Amino acid sequence: MNIHEYQAKEVLKGYGVRIQNGIVADNPEAAHEAAVKLNAETGTSWYVIKAQIHAGGRGKGKIQQTGSNGVVLAKKLEDVADKAKAILGGTLVTHQTGPEGKVVNKILVAEDVYYPGDSEPKEYYLSILLDRAQGCNVIMASTEGGMDIEDVAENSPEKIIKEWIDPKVGLQGFQIRKVAFKLGLTGTAFKEMVKFIAALYKAYEGTDSSQFEINPVLKTSDDKILAVDAKVNLDDNALYRHKDLADLRDLSEEDPLEVEAGKSGLNYVKLDGNVGCMVNGAGLAMATMDMIKLSGGEPANFLDVGGGANATTVEAGFRIILQDPNVKAILINVFGGIVRCDRIANGVVEAYKSIGDIRVPIIVRLQGTNAVEGAKIIDESGLKVASAITLKEAADKVQAVLQG
Ligand code: GDP
Ligand code: MN
Repeated sequence: MNIHEYQAKEVLKGYGVRIQNGIVADNPEAAHEAAVKLNAETGTSWYVIKAQIHAGGRGKGKIQQTGSNGVVLAKKLEDVADKAKAILGGTLVTHQTGPEGKVVNKILVAEDVYYPGDSEPKEYYLSILLDRAQGCNVIMASTEGGMDIEDVAENSPEKIIKEWIDPKVGLQGFQIRKVAFKLGLTGTAFKEMVKFIAALYKAYEGTDSSQFEINPVLKTSDDKILAVDAKVNLDDNALYRHKDLADLRDLSEEDPLEVEAGKSGLNYVKLDGNVGCMVNGAGLAMATMDMIKLSGGEPANFLDVGGGANATTVEAGFRIILQDPNVKAILINVFGGIVRCDRIANGVVEAYKSIGDIRVPIIVRLQGTNAVEGAKIIDESGLKVASAITLKEAADKVQAVLQG
């Protein structure tokens, strides 16, 4: 689960991670008040206004309606409300949102931390994530902060520092010092970075996160180290023990169909193709998507109804797939292991009748316990549903439907 920057910063602050301070707002007047308050609390007279969406690249991204960037600087208090207005309610398009962009409902009004001083402010990159191949967490750091790390990895991989953490002993002090040293830091900034990484790692473990990306981490002109940005990805499977974090979920950032599917206990991911598919089991779902491609179609979704599929889950799955206007055919591919094929067949027929008006052809492939009985129920139902027992048969029927 992703959370917003303003939420992530609050969480990190709770673990003693120094952050760029800010106050969230959802209208221009509130943004102005936030700036007044920040001025009183931090003494800053320059403000950064940052669109809050679940995507990066906001700084370079543009609001479609006004042309404003997603992150802007206001050097006067009187400008804050107007600059906030040019972002709020607009659609922000960045290289991560896709061309349709994302509507900005909230902004973070933050203190400017790039103030002049003894040295130039310098941006660094820092992330913590699970390295699945190594089976442990890894800290990644780079002096190339503020840039897309994918570009750094591509063009100058030697500039990415990696430090793997042995899960048996945890993150060791010498490892943190090694990272800070490799970043070229000395003196106060070095000590600050060590404190920063230690606190950040504590936050990562404490929140059961699967990824933290702090880009940029800033060394201020007076050698403070702080998080200017914060992308926090929480592990869904651990949310049950973090009620407070689970409450940070923003459903407006998620695909409405995926949210609806989640409520029915279905694993649904919307895709761009024309063949809807409903499958029990993630592996079979992947194989089915391959099969749809082989038959000349493109999967419209990934949908795993789970091992114990029944009439209710099948109906919920149907309703979700049918809301996608691109769907030209639906392929149901169920293996009758835990459930019997005749029960699924009855579920399909019931769901079909209950929804009524289904205009797209449906191909049902049932294999496993009582497969023949299941196919018979489908064929004798009198509905526009074709049965198949082998995968090849199902593929041919999908192909026939697509070719009209
Ligand atoms: P992203 O573009 O979505 O990754 O958003 P970030 O939070 O990383 O901000 C984008 C850029 O805005 C940063 O790389 C900085 O260059 C700039 N920025 C953020 N905070 C400040 C600030 O306090 N002062 C100034 N001058 N620039 C800032
Ligand atoms: Mn960033």
